[in-house]
Formats: sequence, structure tokens, C-alpha cells
Amino acid sequence: MRAMVDEETCTGCGLCADICPEVFVLQDDKAQVAQDPVPADSEEDCREAAESCPVEAIQIS
Ligand code: SF4
Repeated sequence: MRAMVDEETCTGCGLCADICPEVFVLQDDKAQVAQDPVPADSEEDCREAAESCPVEAIQIS
């Protein structure tokens, strides 16, 4: 599984990094993907983070 953040859309709210800090980190007020591919044991949290993003900036593939 892979995660991508649309930096144009991301508002830097930090919610994804709160939910899944293994994968999402905030840098320069934007979320970035720290682990690609997403580790198997972080997939559930990563999905939850993507679903929780208020501006739908996270894409899962
Ligand atoms: S939850 Fe969405 S808007 Fe907030 S930091 Fe993460 S990617 Fe950006």
C-alpha cells in the first residue's frame, strides 16, 4: 500500500500525523509521507488518517 499527500490541498492541520505518526509527518506546515510503501502494521491507521483528512488530500493506492 502506498500513500500520497497532495501538498497543494493539504492545510497542515496535523490530523493525519496524530492518527498515524508512523507514516505522516508534518514538515513546513505540510504533511509528508515518511514511509513508502506503508508498513503492513500501519495500513489500518493510514486508511483512517486518509478518511479523516478534512480536505481529502491523502490518496491511498
Ligand atoms: S489531515 Fe489532510 S490537511 Fe491535515 S495535515 Fe494531513 S493531509 Fe494535510
